[in-house]
Amino acid sequence: EQIEPKKDEYVIASDTAFAPFEFQNEENEYEGIDVDLMERAAEMQDFNITFNHIGFSGAVQAVEGNQADGMIAGMTITDEREENFDFADPYFESGIQLAVEEGNDDDITSYEDLEGTTVGAKVGTESADFLDEHEDEYGFNVKLYDDADQLYEAVRVDAVDALMDDYPVIGYAIAQGQELETPIERESGGDYGFAVKKGQNPELLEMFNEALQEMKRTGEYDQIVSNYVDTDD
Ligand code: GLN
Repeated sequence: EQIEPKKDEYVIASDTAFAPFEFQNEENEYEGIDVDLMERAAEMQDFNITFNHIGFSGAVQAVEGNQADGMIAGMTITDEREENFDFADPYFESGIQLAVEEGNDDDITSYEDLEGTTVGAKVGTESADFLDEHEDEYGFNVKLYDDADQLYEAVRVDAVDALMDDYPVIGYAIAQGQELETPIERESGGDYGFAVKKGQNPELLEMFNEALQEMKRTGEYDQIVSNYVDTDD
């Protein structure tokens, strides 16, 4: 079903670096699962988009402040966020996980081992919330970074002892050669959803959902995902 767009152009906010969902390739162009899904949805439903890659918490604020019409940024659908956002149908099942530098997994094999350490995460994320909730319980310090480049660099230079992030993003970093290990089983749950500000741009959600359904039906969704991740594991 084709839905009529109500705007000439929709501004879509996203993260700056959240590979394999959005990242700059060697030509400095953004690509990734989120980028491809959104661009394909716009083609299929015949609406225009401009991507604005401003970072995760920047994207949240842009949508809340009406500077963007929607966001796709590996954003986990949570009850708390549903107070301010309307989410489209879930498009990816994720979860958060702790990562340490390769070789450090002798010291850290459980959350209890984090006592006295510093753990990093990206500001405004599920991982940051998780760390804030558990820092007293396990006795670690939390250090927040604006973007993934800073966060992953912090582990490399030992500015933090561990980081917490979405597991497919850690997995992608490892596949790209970053020396990380994940000694603790990941936290389950957390579906990604495309979001608009609550009550606004309902046609945009509908168009995304229509396109997503169609991409799942035709296998194009699986094709896009498998372009970026090894889906066998
Ligand atoms: N899925 C996580 C969240 O929603 C992280 C998203 C991101 O860093 N782009 O908080």
